[in-house]
Amino acid sequence: MSDTDKTAPVLWWVRRDLRLSDNAALLAACATGASVIPVFLCDDLIDGLGAAPKWRFGLGIAALQTRLRALGSELILRRGPALEGLRALCAETGAQAVHWSRAYDPAQVARDTEVKAGLKSDGIDGQSHGGHLLIEPWTVETGTGGFYKVYTPFWKSVRTREMHVPRPQPKAIPAPDQWPESDSLATWDLGAAMNRGAEVVAPHLAVGEEGARDRLDRFIEDRVAAYGTARDIPGIEGTSRLSENLTYGEISPATCWQAGQRALHDGKPGAEIFLKELVWREFAYHLVWHTPRLLDRNWREDWDGFPWRDDNPEAEAWRQGRTGIRFVDAAMREMYVTGTMHNRGRMIVASYLTKHLMTHWRVGQLWFEDCLVDWDPASNAMGWQWAAGSGPDAAPYFRVFNPDTQLDKFDRDQSYQRRFIAEGQGSPEPDALSFFAAVPRSWGLSPNHPYPDPIVALDAGRKRALDAYQARKDAA
Ligand code: FAD
Repeated sequence: MSDTDKTAPVLWWVRRDLRLSDNAALLAACATGASVIPVFLCDDLIDGLGAAPKWRFGLGIAALQTRLRALGSELILRRGPALEGLRALCAETGAQAVHWSRAYDPAQVARDTEVKAGLKSDGIDGQSHGGHLLIEPWTVETGTGGFYKVYTPFWKSVRTREMHVPRPQPKAIPAPDQWPESDSLATWDLGAAMNRGAEVVAPHLAVGEEGARDRLDRFIEDRVAAYGTARDIPGIEGTSRLSENLTYGEISPATCWQAGQRALHDGKPGAEIFLKELVWREFAYHLVWHTPRLLDRNWREDWDGFPWRDDNPEAEAWRQGRTGIRFVDAAMREMYVTGTMHNRGRMIVASYLTKHLMTHWRVGQLWFEDCLVDWDPASNAMGWQWAAGSGPDAAPYFRVFNPDTQLDKFDRDQSYQRRFIAEGQGSPEPDALSFFAAVPRSWGLSPNHPYPDPIVALDAGRKRALDAYQARKDAA
């Protein structure tokens, strides 16, 4: 800081809020009237991300950097434990306050609690702000004062809430006289583990705040009206694809919510279902906040004795999109090619792994965590426990999806399977071929190989799962 600078700067600690608009932490920092130093810290939690989300996070950081530079600001990058990084920056710049967007999963909560206490002991004001969610998880209570374990009553209790109106980005982000030193993003090499996949997945992304806004606008304009039925058809682009942006905070859920509300008032019938889906995301965080074990243990403890299998060769075939079950393979390949998977595909592959293959949902959860550019800790865990039957508001275990009949119903024109399965096609579609370019060479896959026979016959797999379920019930 220069001698003439009377006001100490404040830090905006950027995390999963890679946006300038509707960002309470940034607005609070700007409202102090001081200069604002945006900072991103690559700590263990960032380093420990799976290959695809870590790479995608890096792209989002670069996009925010560009936006900030256009406003005469910067994004300072530092590596190491968050508290150490913030302390160092406060010492270097004289900053007396740090603002950030609140997180809700236990790992981030533990880190943030430590940071807040550490800053306080240094006399620095650390303030967290809402915005990653529409609804703070502790503000929704059942009639008896507990938390919700079932989605529908949760939805009913929040649907008429007054959600905040998104706030515009600050007119200016005052810059300090001098910027502290910053790492270069390239040296972090966040895409290191993406190997061949990055090039294939990149064209399917919409990175940054502008990409997110554009996605929302196009969805509301072109697709939300028919969303109620189109959202179930994996062969068409019937959904918003905003999960990729919401998870890095490139758009706020309030912005999506208000756009959905406007569409509803404009008489677009699918809009209410879109709002409901946004609330599924809220529900996932509500559950994680109240029962963090959702993330890594059976939510229903009585499932602990179920004979799930650990990782196994059939699960490896599942990962490789080589089960011989077309819906499962198409969906697993979709994830490899696009970095995301249609919701129906996620339900099918999760059901197949945990039921037909009797494999523990953690095996699948961790694979998704590595491969999804829209990976979200709460939605992923809730989705897996829903499919496995071990979650709070779960699909009953005895209801086993039949991937073949699901395919007949939801991929009538076969466009989804054709798009992602090359084997047996005279001239395979580009995405079907891209899969072979994206997967590790060590898998030894080629579009010229014959399409595999089913690794487990659907009837036999279903029976095995139901027998195990019955045995567990009898034992109980
Ligand atoms: P849209 O249909 O356009 O819905 C709008 C938004 O609502 C989504 O962007 C998302 O934020 C939210 N939403 C929709 N469905 C759900 C749902 N079932 N649960 C929670 N939120 C929802 N979603 C993730 O964001 N990250 C994950 O890691 C993830 N893992 C999943 C794993 C499994 C096994 C299952 C069954 C579901 C998982 N989901 C996950 C939920 C859902 O599949 C995705 O949110 C959805 O497919 C994203 O596509 P979209 O943005 O086009 O959704």
